[in-house]
Amino acid sequence: MLKANIENFLACDAAYEEAGIVLYGAPFDSTTSYRPGARFGSRAVRSESYGLESYSPYQDRDLLDCSVFDSGDLELSFGNTGAALADLEQRADGILQDGKLPFLIGGEHLVTLAAVRAAKKRYPDLCIIHFDAHADLRDEYLGAELSHACVIRRCHELVGDGRIFQFGIRSGDREEWNWGRGHVKTVPFTLREEDIGETLKELEGSPVYFTVDLDVMDPSVFPGTGTPEPGGVSFDELRRAVTLVCGNARVVGCDVNELAPMLDASGASTAAACKIVREMLIALSGRR
Ligand code: MN
Ligand code: MN
Repeated sequence: MLKANIENFLACDAAYEEAGIVLYGAPFDSTTSYRPGARFGSRAVRSESYGLESYSPYQDRDLLDCSVFDSGDLELSFGNTGAALADLEQRADGILQDGKLPFLIGGEHLVTLAAVRAAKKRYPDLCIIHFDAHADLRDEYLGAELSHACVIRRCHELVGDGRIFQFGIRSGDREEWNWGRGHVKTVPFTLREEDIGETLKELEGSPVYFTVDLDVMDPSVFPGTGTPEPGGVSFDELRRAVTLVCGNARVVGCDVNELAPMLDASGASTAAACKIVREMLIALSGRR
């Protein structure tokens, strides 16, 4: 029998009712300050996932055995950041209300704010684990408070002191670093298992929102991003770290963001992003 041409992320074709995890895409990059293109990230991840096996030899598990529904990309307003965030928050709200885990694919990093707003309403004691090259702790950037460069600062206003755990950070202005010392816990430069394990112990039982800015990887392995920052981690370091978090923390929502596929003609960045999403989905499914 012929089937309708509906594109899902690799093997994520469960019925919504049965799915434990729901993917949703945010084709949004209106506040990108340097090289735009992240609006094409979610679409590229979905279509390029066909180059990837559903089986993970790292985890000896298959995405085919996981119940994931791909709800596609939202149609978001480009001229109105507030409206775009409101639409994303509503999508996350609905998924959470149905008792499922919302998994957001960006888009620029600001989209995280919408998902965190939704998660915070449902989980008042929400904590955040943040992988990134950049601190994203600016109070405002080029006059805008709603900017990818301010997203974690906006999240801090929601969750408060001591609830944000950053890893891999290697860039930020002096004020961000100074402010961060009093308000968030930052492990710079690396994604070491020991450091992440310590945080997981501290957060045991707490609801965690997990946000992965893919530019935490070095530009040599992940050049397809708006603000490349030399000195990053390898693909395998990131893969191990996301598996650790997704398999062990009480993740109630998550995202992968800042892939700008057109900035990488080789397609290697998109392939890396797809594989990170696969590993996260399998690890999240394993613990449920
Ligand atoms: Mn970021
Ligand atoms: Mn970044």
